[in-house]
Order: sequence, then structure tokens, then C-alpha cells
Amino acid sequence: MNSIQCEGEILQPSKVVCVGQNYVAHIEELNSAMPDQPVIFIKPNSAISDQIQLQGGDEVHYEGEISFIIKDSQISAVGFGLDLTKRTVQSKLKNKGLPWERSKAFDGSAIFSEFRAFDGNNDDLTLELHLNGELKQQGGCQLMLFKPDVFLASIKSFLTLEDGDVIMTGTPAGVGQITSGDEFVGKIFDKDKLLIEKKWLVK
Ligand code: ZN
Repeated sequence: MNSIQCEGEILQPSKVVCVGQNYVAHIEELNSAMPDQPVIFIKPNSAISDQIQLQGGDEVHYEGEISFIIKDSQISAVGFGLDLTKRTVQSKLKNKGLPWERSKAFDGSAIFSEFRAFDGNNDDLTLELHLNGELKQQGGCQLMLFKPDVFLASIKSFLTLEDGDVIMTGTPAGVGQITSGDEFVGKIFDKDKLLIEKKWLVK
């Protein structure tokens, strides 16, 4: 089983639950329809990694996302996540109305920083994703179509969240392709306070 780290503790999530299409500007950049309830999909434990690796010849996009660890059915910690997506594969599957797993659930498609304990106000959380020194993505819970209390209730209406499971909360606008040699820096802020900063180099 793959693991994540939180405050020095090693956790093995049973699954990663992802909220899709949760920022209006990102929905618009993908020409998707505005959802009337949270869009939910899952990445298995086997998708978890702490390194970004290219996937043969497939075009892989980065999606920076505020990510939460769940304990006792509540948010207990926050981290920076990258929901890696084979965008061309995903577009083909979406057009045919087929499941997304080949584009979203492959090995190494859920990348995480270390997590920090968090019990503050979700509305104060924001993220930044820098690519090769340039700010590419910026957003936070205040801009979400469905806020954490809403998507958590929606997820729990049909799925059991085990302790250690991770929620990825959707990506703001500014997604793009990953190329060899890229340097990514993901940051999570609680208001003005930097909670997390993680650097990844793409091999
Ligand atoms: Zn995503």
C-alpha cells in the first residue's frame, strides 16, 4: 500500500476521493457544463505517489488542488495535491460517456506533499502552483462552486470515508501540460500564513 505523511505520521489511505469541476474558471477553460451537484470520482491507493513521472507518450496535465485528510469523518489535515490527468485520453472518454479511470486513476496520478494538521476556517485556505518560477494556478475554498461542508456531505451520502482517506477539492484555472525537466512548487496558505511548500522536479 502507498502512504502519505502527516505531522510525522505515516498513513495509508484506502482511497482518494476527488471533486471535479469545482472552480468556475476551470470549468470554462475545459468547456464543461456547470454541474448541479458535486462531480465525484476516485483514485485508488495505487495512484498515490510523491514524485511526478511522465507517462510514456501520453500528454499529462497538472491540476493543483487543496487536499484534505479525513479523520472521524471530518477534515483533520491539509496538504498540496496534484491530480495528474491524461487530458487527451480524458476528452475521448468524456465524449463517449465512458468512465475516466484510464485518464485519472493511473499509477502516479495522485501526488501529495506532506500534510499539516488543520482545524481552522476552510474559507481561509488558498493554494498557489508555480511552474518553472511562474505562478500558474491560484485559488481557494472561497472560489469553490461547492464548499467543503457541501461536498463532504455529498460524498458521505454514498461513500464511507475511512480514517486517512484523502479528498482532492478540485483545481482552479491555469492547468497545463507537464514536460520533462519542469520544476513545480506547490504552496498552501492559511490567510497570509504559509502552511505548506513542496517542490517537485519532473524526471
Ligand atoms: Zn482535479
